[in-house]
Amino acid sequence: MLNVYAEFCEKYLAMPVVKGKKTESDKFAGAVSTYAIEALMHDGKALQAGTSHYFGDGFAKAFDIQFTDKDNKLKYPHQTSWGMTTRLIGAVIMTHGDNNGLVLPPAVAPVQVVIVPIAQHKEGVLDKANEIYEKLKASGLRVKLDDSDNSPGWKFAEYEMKGVPLRVEIGPKDIENGQCMIAMRYNGEKTAVSTENMYEKLVAAVKEAIEKTIPEVMFAKALENRTNRTYRCTSLDEITRALNEKGDGFVEAMWCGDEECEDKVKELTGVGSRCIPTQQHELSDKCVCCGKPAKCMVLWGKAY
Ligand SMILES: [Zn+2]
Repeated sequence: MLNVYAEFCEKYLAMPVVKGKKTESDKFAGAVSTYAIEALMHDGKALQAGTSHYFGDGFAKAFDIQFTDKDNKLKYPHQTSWGMTTRLIGAVIMTHGDNNGLVLPPAVAPVQVVIVPIAQHKEGVLDKANEIYEKLKASGLRVKLDDSDNSPGWKFAEYEMKGVPLRVEIGPKDIENGQCMIAMRYNGEKTAVSTENMYEKLVAAVKEAIEKTIPEVMFAKALENRTNRTYRCTSLDEITRALNEKGDGFVEAMWCGDEECEDKVKELTGVGSRCIPTQQHELSDKCVCCGKPAKCMVLWGKAY
């Protein structure tokens, strides 16, 4: 199930995640084991983005749930519990958002493309805008044409705040030049695209951006933020220094498996254990806290 979560987050939400197992003290109360995906938000804080639990037969026994097995005997079933929640909406906002508002990954954006006509009272502008709307819509994209009386500047700010991944601008000058402008939400970059050949090039460019470029670059940007803010540490001093100098982030450090050390790391450095990543790196053979032989590498962070 963890792989399904991870694939959904990375492919559809453009959000890189770390897969792992929760420590004994951090697992779901009563579960045999808890698995989680952890994501790093834009500000360096960690967010548990999804969990799945293995309950063994503990809950079945507590609630007296039994089934008749093929040998005709009553038995307690083993149970699992999993599911993603609305917390992921928060994760998307906090992973990709910027000072102008939301930045939505195209796969989950209710509106993927907004068309903003410039000087729309001038002859021909709205006709062109409508043609572009029809072409883009026919290509399977979720498109909106805003022909309200609000100014173009107002519309730009409005759809930036709402996180619409791509904006198409069309005005009298563009029509004269046989082009329109497309602007990306995630970096604000604008490019001129030809509207010739019945908008063939425009539709291709917008589709390429929505389906490929934008999700790939958004993912790469989030991954870069996580990489820059993941600190490998071999002592408590190193953890404190890294967090003070570079800001909040993930810490990778070895652990002996003792709950006392887990608590002490949190108390002294402020970062708690997030998970024991499936993908382990051996940073040292000693626990970052007590110096005794280490059992595994733990991912630590400040939780939301
Ligand atoms: Zn220790």
